[in-house]
Amino acid sequence: MPKLNEHYQDLKESYLFTEIAHRVAAYTAANPDKKVIRLGIGDVTLPLGNLAIEGLHEGVDAMASAETFKGYGPEQGYDFLREAISAYYARNGVSVDASDIFISDGAKSDTGNISELFDRDNVILIPDPVYPVYVDSNVMSGKQITYLAGNAGNGFLPLPDPSVHADIIYLCSPNNPTGAVYNREQLTAWVNYALANEAVILFDSAYEAFITEPDLPRSIYAIEGAKQCAIEFCSLSKTAGFTGTRCGYTIVPKELVFTASNGAELSLHNMWNRRQCTKFNGTSYIVQKGAAAVFTEEGMKQCHENIRYYQENARIIADTLAKKGIRFYGGVNSPYIWFECPNQMESWEFFDYLLNHAQVVGTPGAGFGENGKNFFRLTSFGNHENTIEAMQRFEKLF
Ligand SMILES: *Cc1c(COP(=O)(O)O)cnc(C)c1O
Repeated sequence: MPKLNEHYQDLKESYLFTEIAHRVAAYTAANPDKKVIRLGIGDVTLPLGNLAIEGLHEGVDAMASAETFKGYGPEQGYDFLREAISAYYARNGVSVDASDIFISDGAKSDTGNISELFDRDNVILIPDPVYPVYVDSNVMSGKQITYLAGNAGNGFLPLPDPSVHADIIYLCSPNNPTGAVYNREQLTAWVNYALANEAVILFDSAYEAFITEPDLPRSIYAIEGAKQCAIEFCSLSKTAGFTGTRCGYTIVPKELVFTASNGAELSLHNMWNRRQCTKFNGTSYIVQKGAAAVFTEEGMKQCHENIRYYQENARIIADTLAKKGIRFYGGVNSPYIWFECPNQMESWEFFDYLLNHAQVVGTPGAGFGENGKNFFRLTSFGNHENTIEAMQRFEKLF
């Protein structure tokens, strides 16, 4: 009989989206005449920009003739894409070496797989509430987690406690689910803390393209010293609508070198390279052609047209909450709006209330951690007319 990885038993049942689907299906069956509007989705809905589509077509056409056909590509990604990403960072005022960029099929795989590089014996800080992948991927390998509490008191932007040592710190900014974004001073505090503790920050910037305020950092490398202490993950999923097309990237600076227990110098860049070369055979050439088109100036302009559409939805949601006197987080530099459930309701209770009284579906904060249990997430990824209608219904509640 195989001995199983019993740490899988320690995972909390991930019933968030199935439970939502179940409750919505039950409601629709009982109320077939009611129009249900979904503002719970964490997925984009607009189609890809035409430059990305052209890039994808070029990739497909290359496969059709022997002269341009591509077989296995470099595990790290094609240089044309790594250089296009490096140039994109440079336009945003951040210098990133193209050879430090690893192309992947998305940030979920990379944020999950990165924990392989670290031993079980580490103090690992993970924000609560946050994207559940960080917690679950560590639980799967039996690692202990220390939670960094996000709450109304710190605006859902927990800061380092200098009296407590940590080795690994996960940060997500703009945050999913809260929409909160670290400013330069706050990120500097994290970088300085990491340097003082010889810790590594795992920085997820999947929503960087939603940042509108020019002073807010869109990359951890906008902070001095970050290349000595941080890995950055990003994705084309939310930026360019690639949730189904699949492409992301991870930046592992060569400066990240630490001393092993036998005295050897170990480079995280080399370790990640080895890991990828062993377990990953590269992102499809076709997809990388589409991705390279996204990172051109014109390609990014098209992405921002879609992002502006979502931001207009976010503004409508935010205005409605403000009108109702509900304090909310996010919505300006993020597609997510996060708020405390009215009348001391718990998040699942509010989910049912909203579904029954306004036929609007959102996401209960409990699905993102203990500290989310009285909070609720609405997203701006829906259709414009439906978002307006949902908010007109919302306005008439409680
Ligand atoms: C959507 C999302 C991602 C992107 O994941 P992909 O695998 O690239 O689609 C990464 N991090 C967070 C926090 C997200 O919400």
